[in-house]
Amino acid sequence: MRVWITTDLEGVCGVYRWEQTRDYDSRANLEARQLLMGEVNAAVAGAFDGGAKRVVVWDGHDGSKSFFPEELDSRAEMIMGQVGDRKALLRQGFDCGILLGYHSMSHTAGGVLCHTQNSVAWNHLWINGRRAGEIAQCAISLGGFDIPVVMVTGDDGACAEARDWLGEEIVTVQVKQGLSREGALMLSPKRARELIRQGVMEALGKASVVKPLKPDFPLTLRFQFKDSKIVDTYRGEARTIDACTIEKEISDPDDVFGP
Ligand SMILES: [Zn+2]
Repeated sequence: MRVWITTDLEGVCGVYRWEQTRDYDSRANLEARQLLMGEVNAAVAGAFDGGAKRVVVWDGHDGSKSFFPEELDSRAEMIMGQVGDRKALLRQGFDCGILLGYHSMSHTAGGVLCHTQNSVAWNHLWINGRRAGEIAQCAISLGGFDIPVVMVTGDDGACAEARDWLGEEIVTVQVKQGLSREGALMLSPKRARELIRQGVMEALGKASVVKPLKPDFPLTLRFQFKDSKIVDTYRGEARTIDACTIEKEISDPDDVFGP
């Protein structure tokens, strides 16, 4: 069993305010990244306990600069920095994927640090007319490589969104309950790590049950931004819907992330 893990930071237990995810090397950010490494290593341990032969973890938050390399479980491999040909990496072959530390889509009621891709500039994303966030984007992208997402961790909003898109059979580990966009009722991080480790062991058993998310292509993506700046300067192939909204069709699952 070969396991691919993509991480984000906003959905980690103990993370609940923007300062932790945006202000690099502030005390708040260093703490958040430490908490992330704890969850990463819990997931890696669960994977190897569950029979994994290879675990690759991608530092997926904001330009891939959140891991503390020295702290990674020695059995795992990690991807950081500019990825270049991500497809070549994914084509190495993985039996299942895990989204660790994820958040709900923009404008989710009570969604802790909820956003879609760019928390400052993006308003909404629709995929074939259905409101979507990063969980769906990542699952569609991994689906393009026949990798099913078998587990998602984060707050209650992220877990509900994951089950909504990926089905009730996936494993979700809720590490906090959203009270507002910057507030949460949280487990002890130690408890969260225990649940994540157990969750991954269970999730590996779902790799043959959960299907990769493979919608029919082309997909229609509609991007609505918070103001007209991105639309004003956009030079790609999307149609302009209104001052803040563009729409395009994509045929490659890996194009699902942005215009
Ligand atoms: Zn993030």
